[in-house]
Amino acid sequence: MSPKQILVIEDETDIREMLALRLKKERFQVLEASEGMTGLKKAQEEQPDLVLLDLMLPFMNGLDILRKLRENRKTAQLPIIIVSAKGEESDVIVGLELGADDYVTKPFNMSVLLARINALLRRFQTSEAPAKIVSVGSVEIDSDRFLVTVDGEPISLTRTEFGILYALATSKGRVLTRNQLIDEAIGSDALVTDRTIDVHITSLRGKLGEARELVETVRGIGYRLAAVED
Ligand code: CA
Repeated sequence: MSPKQILVIEDETDIREMLALRLKKERFQVLEASEGMTGLKKAQEEQPDLVLLDLMLPFMNGLDILRKLRENRKTAQLPIIIVSAKGEESDVIVGLELGADDYVTKPFNMSVLLARINALLRRFQTSEAPAKIVSVGSVEIDSDRFLVTVDGEPISLTRTEFGILYALATSKGRVLTRNQLIDEAIGSDALVTDRTIDVHITSLRGKLGEARELVETVRGIGYRLAAVED
């Protein structure tokens, strides 16, 4: 298998060089860009396997780069992880809604970042049709029959709770914002607030019993399903 290529778009030299060094150690090929315009150009011309995208960048910020990449058919599916500074939660939410696949917050733990990178690359390698039955830990979801079991015991969910659980389960550890959950589980034209999702989540957790801890709150951003090795 040829080495995967990662584009690091980051203006802080120390962070960029540290990232490049560590990624090379993990046998990735690394491309670097220190500002937005070059970053966008390299992403489009080199078509890397994954992009680590800082948000605050000179000339063109990370969200504009993201928007441009998603608009272009050639880079619409390119795996992107946002690297944000503390206090940029609202930008992270916008980023996830623009189609970023994941995010990490600075200062980040390198082994966590590597795990996210590898998980994302794996996800894109095996992008076959979504399975009819998805299982996460002790929870099994049968999307054809609208059936959910915990440890083999069926539980009764509302359609919205089912939609939320299914959206989280098929995102495989990726964070979904409240708006994304509204789109997936309720419908984007519905008149609901962010709080609605929180209420459904509380109810869903109650019904999951022991498995409730699988549904993780990501403070200020949204929800995700805990990664369980299968
Ligand atoms: Ca920056």
